[in-house]
Amino acid sequence: MPTELERRILVHAPTSKDSELTCEVLREKGMDCEICDDVQSLVQEMERGVGVVILAEEAFVRDNIRPVVEFLERQAAWSDLPIIMVTRHGADSPSVTEAAKLLGNVTLLERPTRLNALLTAAKAGLRARRRQFQARDLLLARTRAEESLRQADRRKDEFLATLAHELRNPLAPLRNSVHILQLTASDDPAVARLCETMERQVTHLVRLVDDLLEVSRITRGKIELRKENVELAAIARNAIETSRPVIDAAKVQLAISLPQEPIYVHGDPVRLAQVVANLLNNAAKYTNEGGQIWFTARHENGEAVISIRDTGIGIAADLLPKVFDMFMQVDGATERSQGGLGIGLTLVRSLVELHGGSVYVRSDGPGMGSEFVVRLPAVAEERAPAGLAPTAAASGIESRRILVVDDNVDSAKTLGILLKYLGADVQIVHSGVDAIEAIGKFQPGVVLLDIGMPGMDGYEVARRVRERREFEGVTLIALTGWGQEDDRRRTREAGFDHHLVKPADIVALQSLLVTLK
Ligand code: ADP
Repeated sequence: MPTELERRILVHAPTSKDSELTCEVLREKGMDCEICDDVQSLVQEMERGVGVVILAEEAFVRDNIRPVVEFLERQAAWSDLPIIMVTRHGADSPSVTEAAKLLGNVTLLERPTRLNALLTAAKAGLRARRRQFQARDLLLARTRAEESLRQADRRKDEFLATLAHELRNPLAPLRNSVHILQLTASDDPAVARLCETMERQVTHLVRLVDDLLEVSRITRGKIELRKENVELAAIARNAIETSRPVIDAAKVQLAISLPQEPIYVHGDPVRLAQVVANLLNNAAKYTNEGGQIWFTARHENGEAVISIRDTGIGIAADLLPKVFDMFMQVDGATERSQGGLGIGLTLVRSLVELHGGSVYVRSDGPGMGSEFVVRLPAVAEERAPAGLAPTAAASGIESRRILVVDDNVDSAKTLGILLKYLGADVQIVHSGVDAIEAIGKFQPGVVLLDIGMPGMDGYEVARRVRERREFEGVTLIALTGWGQEDDRRRTREAGFDHHLVKPADIVALQSLLVTLK
């Protein structure tokens, strides 16, 4: 809304008598009016705030009107100051035409001016001006909302990055411990199976934490797939394992039907398991106790076809095309969504489409159950799956001197044990200062160095190591929760040779160590 100053009518007439008369008339009608004796004071007042300007033609001729024109040119996009010009030579005279062109939003009043014409023009000008201020306020409120949204989005991204980083710390010792258990595997097949499950689940957890960092990318459909040839049955096993607690809690039956012949797809096994698990979870959530879910996979015309059908609450025909939309939840189904946000199916569709596949849903209506069908391009042959458990026999890093530096004692200890199992000669310290000392005494070939440590951090250790000639030839590997390109650049600049993100994949670490001299 305009302030008092912004509701003023500024008058600049050839004589002060003319100005006073005009103002008197306007004030009588409740309008706020101020006389400006010359163009300079007129512009000064305009700068303070103005509703309408009444300008006599003489002013244009007599004075240099340039400052008024400049003021008008500086106006914000929402502003178009109304100017009433009282003409002496008639509205059509060349000087008035020229003035009107320069001043923009001009109403011309011929002299002798009728009182009513002046009052009407002044009121119309003020009303138009008030609208302009309203538009300005709206514009500002829109801009502010956008800015606060942008800030909230930035804060969310920062929070997710910090959260993911913090979650990675406890995951590192967990993952190491699982590998140790695998290396010391007992003869009991039940224990071996438990180890496998733990390994799979920890890996899944690590990937989910990675996803947290990528969540904004996911919503924009920008995620990185780690593709390999993978058997559908393996994806199904993983997904069913993930969804089992939800299925059991819902007290519904799951029937699984897989083909005799294995079907392979070229895709990201974790993401595809995520797709199937999301659909299984939904089937369980939206099906009443005692209901049934059928999971079937088949090979059809060069495609892997996965169907998840349930006897649940079903979906009305008009909502079928909408359930894949972001934040879409069907009324009445929300209490079953168990805190879901309505993004599960959006993720399913974007992940399937990223794999070159498609997903659709069919239902005969409310109470009639639903079926979600995923189609993915099938591939002919299998390649060796990546990510096998490490082996102690001929690990390729026997007798390698490795210094592990991490202030997280569990992380350091478990990584140390793991490397020892692989045959390395390992020493562990928990601070930057101790690291410098240990490098001198223990003379490691490789230092696995955490970055965030109290006192002397990993960057500082790296810089000091690189300054000393006697430490030449030591390979420095950063082991950190931060994995963005910027973080990698910082470790490079500090003198690191390699950068691994925690929790480091032991197979990747082992292969890196093997390649080092
Ligand atoms: P959420 O389950 O978190 O609400 P989703 O994106 O996974 O989000 O699902 C969106 C909506 O689609 C759900 O809220 C529900 O209304 C409907 N829906 C999904 N799966 C089923 C199903 N198997 N049976 C009935 N309705 C379903």
